[in-house]
Amino acid sequence: MSNRSSYRKIPHITQKINRQDFRDWLNQASASARMLTSILAWLIGLAYLLVGAFFWREWMAQYDLKIQAFWMLPVFAAGPALLGFAALFNRIVGNWPRCPTCGKKIHALLPTLASKRCPHCHALILEDTRELSPGYLLPLTMEESLEKKPGYTLSVDTEFLRKVRIILVTPPLMIALFLAFGLNHDMELELMMAAIVQIMGIAIIGMVGLPSLISISWMTHVCRFLQLIPKEQFIYCPECGCIPSASIARRTGCCSECGAKLLELANEPDTPDMLDWHAVKRYETGKSRSAIIAAVLYPVFLLGSLLKCWRLLWTLGAIYAITIWQDFRLKKLARIPKKCPHCSRQLAQSAIRSLLNYGRCPRCNHKLVRDGDAER
Ligand SMILES: [Zn+2]
Ligand SMILES: [Zn+2]
Ligand SMILES: [Zn+2]
Repeated sequence: MSNRSSYRKIPHITQKINRQDFRDWLNQASASARMLTSILAWLIGLAYLLVGAFFWREWMAQYDLKIQAFWMLPVFAAGPALLGFAALFNRIVGNWPRCPTCGKKIHALLPTLASKRCPHCHALILEDTRELSPGYLLPLTMEESLEKKPGYTLSVDTEFLRKVRIILVTPPLMIALFLAFGLNHDMELELMMAAIVQIMGIAIIGMVGLPSLISISWMTHVCRFLQLIPKEQFIYCPECGCIPSASIARRTGCCSECGAKLLELANEPDTPDMLDWHAVKRYETGKSRSAIIAAVLYPVFLLGSLLKCWRLLWTLGAIYAITIWQDFRLKKLARIPKKCPHCSRQLAQSAIRSLLNYGRCPRCNHKLVRDGDAER
């Protein structure tokens, strides 16, 4: 009965975080993280510019073209890698909101803002006493629109527009830089590489600063003008005016931007055949751990096969086999069915996130994970 022994209840607390406090706290933490990132991006960018303008050709003069070209690899990797490390550092040391139950830091508004739950222990931690805000109309799913129901199928929401800004900025910025530096195919390779180092510098500074200058409400206007967003259907949150993610609104009944209650969800009590949240979480954590192990083992494996070191290859194979076996065991303990019992959709790897964040099937929204809500 290993399933029973690994079963853990979802923690239950009375002292919840006020939703506004949570938002302010998280916004403050991410603002200071962004500030650090911008300062670092400026420093890295300036370093690239200086090196490209004054030192690069002098340093490279001692090497032949092949080795010079090889040095471009660290040039391309160093800036993004440093910014990545800074982001990791911010996650660890920043003053992020902590879950009152498990004490772990929460780094993103979602899923907590909509689900009101901690992403680490699934406890209900947000206090939100707002009543239903009427008026919001859920857009159709792809399948519903294929059944030729009248209405709007949503592909654009506020979060999507935020991401699109980066795509809007990148090509014009790169083209402008190439023109400004006069790169052309007759150019000498040494000159071109020095120019690329400088272009990297400006691009790193620009990519951090420029996208946030494009206004989301302006983009919404353009989308409405292009009829990508319908005028008549009310897909905006009545509380904050943003376009919430339709899938999150469907699964939680709440706005993904401000957490306001937009839809009344069916109340489904826990049943014994529903999944245990902690078991699903352990399976998912195991999966990401094996992905990291595979990424670390792969270069060692290549090295081992180049050197024909069989003992090393056997050891790596054994380690990898153990991780696969461990994943298999955790999956069995989590008892995730192949298909959703309500709509018979395949519960592939991509559905696990939805199960953990919202406890529901990503297609039919039936509750599949126990949340312990009825016990309080
Ligand atoms: Zn927690
Ligand atoms: Zn809202
Ligand atoms: Zn389903």
